[in-house]
Amino acid sequence: MGDFDGQIAVITGGARGIGAEIARRLAAGGAHVVCADLLDTTEIVAEITAAGGSAEGRPLDVTDGEVAAATIQEIHGTHGRLDILVNNAGITRDQLLVRMKPQDWDLVLKINLDGVFLVTQPAAKIMMRQRSGRIVNIASVVGLMGNGGQTNYASSKAGLIGFTKALARELGPRNVTVNAVAPGYIQTAMTDALTDEQREALMKSVAIPRLGTATDVADAVAFLAGPGASYITGTVVNVSGGLYM
Ligand code: NAD
Repeated sequence: MGDFDGQIAVITGGARGIGAEIARRLAAGGAHVVCADLLDTTEIVAEITAAGGSAEGRPLDVTDGEVAAATIQEIHGTHGRLDILVNNAGITRDQLLVRMKPQDWDLVLKINLDGVFLVTQPAAKIMMRQRSGRIVNIASVVGLMGNGGQTNYASSKAGLIGFTKALARELGPRNVTVNAVAPGYIQTAMTDALTDEQREALMKSVAIPRLGTATDVADAVAFLAGPGASYITGTVVNVSGGLYM
């Protein structure tokens, strides 16, 4: 018996990276996972299915409200329930404020924050009627501590943390929890590009001297979505090896 047997989980940005790892983790726990992404999800769906899990892919641009609502409603129509929503889709467009193009400000806010609103609203309606559900938002420690060159990204993630807390208060009475996970530096294609000097400087700023892994993040998501977290809502779980404390 897995923690998520019989449950339906939607993961935005589930085609690769942290989102794909969250999909693997929830599927291993028995959930049917829906990887919703701009990118092709064939590979992750095939991988999960080959490992004995249950998965499907859906094309989704989180900034398209009509498609987002239709996708969530279709998933609910097909499966008859919606138990877990992980808002993971996100991007960076880093630049110092004085050089930042307005379109890079807009795009980051649009995907990282508006997109969460557009996907969560239809999902929350279903979970409220169902009187159960778990929403986990993937924020970032940058939304808590700031980072030069990321005013757009930090604003979107700080906004996401405020969204998490406000929605937790709205949905708590309906037995729906809303939490955030704030990863620090996680080993991905992005951090693979760090130079040795950058890596060394980074190791001095964390208490646990290694990069985090997508599995570290997925484990925190699985805890918040799982049976042990039914009295936890409106929190931010910081998965940063002590980068921020
Ligand atoms: P990634 O780029 O590997 O994956 C992001 C996924 O989101 C991609 O599959 C992409 O196609 C999808 N996506 C982007 N825009 C979309 C849209 N408009 N609609 C639907 N899907 C869209 O990045 P990642 O490192 O796996 O990051 C996942 C999440 O974790 C993001 O929210 C990111 O901000 C957050 N995060 C990452 C790190 C890190 O170190 N990698 C640290 C802190 C927070």
